[in-house]
Amino acid sequence: MGATPFHRRLKQFVRYAGSTCRLGYWLSQVRDLRRRVSIPARTLACVGVLGFAFRVASLMELASWVEAGAFRKFFRGQRGPLRDCFRDWCKRVELPSLWAMNDAILAKARRDKVFRAGTVHGWHVVAIDGTEVLRTSARGCPACQVYHHNDGRIEYAHRMVLAQTVVRPEAQDEPKHRRRSSGPPPVVWGMEAQRPGEDEVGAARRLLRRLVQRHGHFCDVLTVDGAYAEAPFLNEGRALGLQAVVRLKDERYHVVQDAAGLRRGEPPQETFATRIGSKQVVVRLWDTPDLTSWEGLSRPGRVVYAEETLTWTQWKEGKPKPQQAYRILQVLTTLEPAQASARVIWAIARARWGVEHEGVRELKTHWHLDHGFLHHPTGMQAIWALLVTGFNLFQLFLARRVRSRRDVEATDSGLAQRLQRALREVTEPLGPYLWDTS
Ligand SMILES: [Zn+2]
Repeated sequence: MGATPFHRRLKQFVRYAGSTCRLGYWLSQVRDLRRRVSIPARTLACVGVLGFAFRVASLMELASWVEAGAFRKFFRGQRGPLRDCFRDWCKRVELPSLWAMNDAILAKARRDKVFRAGTVHGWHVVAIDGTEVLRTSARGCPACQVYHHNDGRIEYAHRMVLAQTVVRPEAQDEPKHRRRSSGPPPVVWGMEAQRPGEDEVGAARRLLRRLVQRHGHFCDVLTVDGAYAEAPFLNEGRALGLQAVVRLKDERYHVVQDAAGLRRGEPPQETFATRIGSKQVVVRLWDTPDLTSWEGLSRPGRVVYAEETLTWTQWKEGKPKPQQAYRILQVLTTLEPAQASARVIWAIARARWGVEHEGVRELKTHWHLDHGFLHHPTGMQAIWALLVTGFNLFQLFLARRVRSRRDVEATDSGLAQRLQRALREVTEPLGPYLWDTS
């Protein structure tokens, strides 16, 4: 092993994945439906998980790493998969066995109390988010959402819903190298494909049922946007033991009008000053619990309304220019005042809809989630499971093993690039760290 820092980082990563997360064991549990097997499933799954953990941008790039021998250090005397072999395997893999790998890694992290500190005041907050991951006019598959446009064009798209831990907002104030690792890392708990003709909320409800089945009470509060402001979703969440904070933007909801009526002429119940990133914020809060105007809701709803005045300084041509902005954040929640004050509800909402929360955008920009690696009903879901497992390993590694962030490692991308480079350059066998979990 070369003594360079990035060689050591790779070794550290592989040891963490192999011994703490038992990645090798779970890789060897992956099953597929292939009749003729030239390359074992665990080899293919290993190439996928580590490739995505180090942010590979395409299957072509992954194939180039394989051809350059990047994975040879994990498999003694065995050749790696070629691109077509990997694609074909993704289409034939048993998806539950891939997700089981991710579930096991997250279950271990929970046992290690990674999420205990919570996102806000001890509440572990998870964002449910829907997003489009592929759109093409070239051809469809049986699982596509089909859009017929007025001009006769037909487009095929795939959408999915994901559940991701919201990170502790306090940490955002500090430079990255000083950030405390006490809050939970932004792991992805799962993804669910939206079926043809199904809406986003339907897919989200299926995802939640699956996650509760696998993990039990995996989080405390779900944050969702206005599309989820419907009674069946909120009632089901509550039945599963999960609270919700729903962002309301639409003035047409009766509950929004009722809350506005009760607020009118009343002073805010609470006013306080805080910071969001580099901005000073004065927040005025109105709390209206016991609203019964929500049709079908199993218990009364509660609206928390926040008016925020943000002030900051912008430097123009060497001169400070004071800036001010005003904005409103309004949420419906199933949490009662005795459980969480309006200020805590506001903090939960701001953690999700804050200035720096990236969520799905980060997965798309830096992890190539919407790259469209493979257009195939099973194949693309296999890619998601591998990508999410790789993403989570990276996030857990950062939170649990990386103590100081210097030089290129000051950013997540820098650390990922460093690991990527080491993967291509290190020749010392690393298989023992990955597979031997005794
Ligand atoms: Zn399709």
